Amino acid sequence: MMENMDKERIKRIIARAKEIIKKQDGEKFSQATIDAAWTRSGGRCECIRISCGHNGRCNKQLVYENRKEGERGAWEAHHIISKALGGKDEASNCQILCLDCHKKTESYGKHD
Ligand SMILES: [Zn+2]
Ligand SMILES: [Zn+2]
Repeated sequence: MMENMDKERIKRIIARAKEIIKKQDGEKFSQATIDAAWTRSGGRCECIRISCGHNGRCNKQLVYENRKEGERGAWEAHHIISKALGGKDEASNCQILCLDCHKKTESYGKHD
């Protein structure tokens, strides 16, 4: 009887550990999510943060090929709610941001 309870407990601990690893591993959106968010954005920065200094939506023209880096139109897929906090891999949680705006998000870097 006791032995069975221990097994259940261990099973639960292992399942929890796997879940944590999966979360740490899965900081990226799937391609399908990014494409859906990109289509919604119209290829323009979706940032509406007043703190950035742009009036209303940023709307900077982005270049799809220049994700993460590029001379012109570089952008990032931003987690509105981070995966660590339970944010889902879906377009509603994915914001297309120009790099300037992305750098201003709370989750960016942390260093600096
Ligand atoms: Zn922007
Ligand atoms: Zn912005």
